[in-house]
Amino acid sequence: MTGAQGVDELALLAQLREWAAALGFSQIGVADVDLASAEPGLLHWLHNGFHGSMDYMAQHGLKRARPAELVPGTVRVITARMDYLPRDTPEGWQAVEWARLADPLRGGVSIYARGRDYHKVLRQRLQKLSDKLAEAVGPVGHRVFTDSAPVLEVELASRSGIGWRGKHTLTLHRDAGSMFFLGEIYVDLALPVTPPAEPHCGSCSACIDVCPTQAIVAPYRLDARRCISYLTIEQAGPIPIEFRAAMGNRIYGCDDCQLVCPWNKFAQRSPLPDFDAREPLGQAQLLELWGWSEAEFLRHTEGSAIRRIGHQSWQRNLAVAMGNALRAVGSPAIEAALRGALATATPLVREHIEWALAQRPADARVSTGVDR
Ligand code: SF4
Ligand code: SF4
Repeated sequence: MTGAQGVDELALLAQLREWAAALGFSQIGVADVDLASAEPGLLHWLHNGFHGSMDYMAQHGLKRARPAELVPGTVRVITARMDYLPRDTPEGWQAVEWARLADPLRGGVSIYARGRDYHKVLRQRLQKLSDKLAEAVGPVGHRVFTDSAPVLEVELASRSGIGWRGKHTLTLHRDAGSMFFLGEIYVDLALPVTPPAEPHCGSCSACIDVCPTQAIVAPYRLDARRCISYLTIEQAGPIPIEFRAAMGNRIYGCDDCQLVCPWNKFAQRSPLPDFDAREPLGQAQLLELWGWSEAEFLRHTEGSAIRRIGHQSWQRNLAVAMGNALRAVGSPAIEAALRGALATATPLVREHIEWALAQRPADARVSTGVDR
């Protein structure tokens, strides 16, 4: 198949897949740019305020659903999947993760965030892929995106066969579950469109049932304002009190709806070292993390996505988890650490510390008399 630019597009797609595999991508698709049928769903979601304070979602209006308006001249979107389970992920890793979440003294960091910042990894590799394309076909229009631009990623991914949209709203693939990142390259080359994926959630509703904050308000509909990933990462102010107990020990993101999903028994390990867990994020104890000064936080999170939330939100999240630990196991060391930070805490963190201290069981308060 030879297009208007004199390019054999089928051969080019095959070549793209080879380059992509060498760069650590597991799958490549090609989507058309007519996403008109996705616009009502996007508008409904925005209208309900489900995006919370993620104003960038609303700012671009329907440009999110119109690739050719976002990048004039775009006729196709190349979609890419990059698996992110760390290379040493053991068999039965979900059970390891559930055990981590059940230990109130440890801090739960989402698997994807334990290694290098995926924005950087994906963007650099998508750019290399885009450069390869430019070398092969000349100076055509290309622009890469990953999670950072007004792109309807999941919609593009499902239309191009990367996977189907699960009831938790993430993309799922039969051979890869959902533990992967998505990236896109907008191009003005009429590459052959790849067929969409068939949905395979069936009658399952495990993700909806397991969500600690009931953030999946209906199949395929997520209220981000209730989601622990949003609350711990995207939201800058106080965490609403109604969600604090349900957060448990989750201090950065939440994987529950993915851990419970039966398709994730097929999740793939990354071929790249970038997503390997950095110490101590994989095994972190709350007390150790709480002890980090701002300088230590910046040092430990250099090159990590966690750094983006800043030290104050980090401490806010930790205070909530420590309050939940106090309620569960009443640790005197945690109580002392929280009290020790009260004098120097920012007003935001101080309020979360006070909430945390109030979580101690009533009999502990009576026996120490501290609150009297
Ligand atoms: S990430 Fe956690 S809080 Fe958010 S929808 Fe999934 S299970 Fe619920
Ligand atoms: S847990 Fe079940 S309903 Fe949810 S995404 Fe997975 S297969 Fe679909």
